[in-house]
Amino acid sequence: MYWKLNPRVVGGVDHIWKVVWKLPVSRRIQVFLWITVLDRLLTAKRRAKLLGTDPKCLICGAAEEDSCHVLRDCTKAKQLWFSLDIFYLDSESFILSSRDWFIKNLGSKGWFKLNFDGAVKGNPGPASCRGVLRGDARDWVCGFAKILGICSAISAELSGMVYGLKIAQDLGISKLVVEGDSATAISTLQAAWDGGQVWNLE
Ligand SMILES: [Zn+2]
Repeated sequence: MYWKLNPRVVGGVDHIWKVVWKLPVSRRIQVFLWITVLDRLLTAKRRAKLLGTDPKCLICGAAEEDSCHVLRDCTKAKQLWFSLDIFYLDSESFILSSRDWFIKNLGSKGWFKLNFDGAVKGNPGPASCRGVLRGDARDWVCGFAKILGICSAISAELSGMVYGLKIAQDLGISKLVVEGDSATAISTLQAAWDGGQVWNLE
C-alpha cells in the first residue's frame, strides 16, 4: 500500500538501468532482466508478430503471452509468486504495467513492514495496542505494546497504527508497508496522504 502512496520510489528508464546493472546477481541474470525490461523476451506474442504463430500462452491458454504474462500473470507464475510470501506483494502488484512492476520489485530492498493491532474489552472499554516492525528479510526490528486506558475499538486501532508510524519515523524509515486488520484505520491513513506528508499524522 505504501509503495502506491509514495511515487518517489518510481523512476524512469535511466533509474531501471542503474538498478538492474547494480544488482548483486550474476551477469546472466542482469542480462535476462534487462532484456525483460526492454520487453525483448521471445514470447508467444513476439513470435506471433515475427512468424504469424498463435500469440496465446501455451500453459494457461487464457491470454496472449507477453513478458508480463510469462513472469507474473500466468496462473502458474502467480502460484509461484504467492508461494514466496513476499510482504510487498499484493493484488495491485498484478495490475501494474510491466515497467512499474519491475521498478517496484527491483527496488524492494530497504523496505520495512509495520503490522499493528488494537484490542478493546467492550466498546468503549479498557484498550491496548501493539505492533511489530520488520525489515525486508523479515528480520525483526522492534515491537511495541501500549496500554491506552478506556477508549473505543477504532481509537485503539488508530493508536496502534500511529504509534507504529512514529517509531518508523524515528528510525528514519522511508519505505514502509503498513498492514492492519482495521479497514477504517487503513482508509484513514490513505485519506491523510496528500502526496508527501504522511508522517505528519498526529
Ligand atoms: Zn499463461
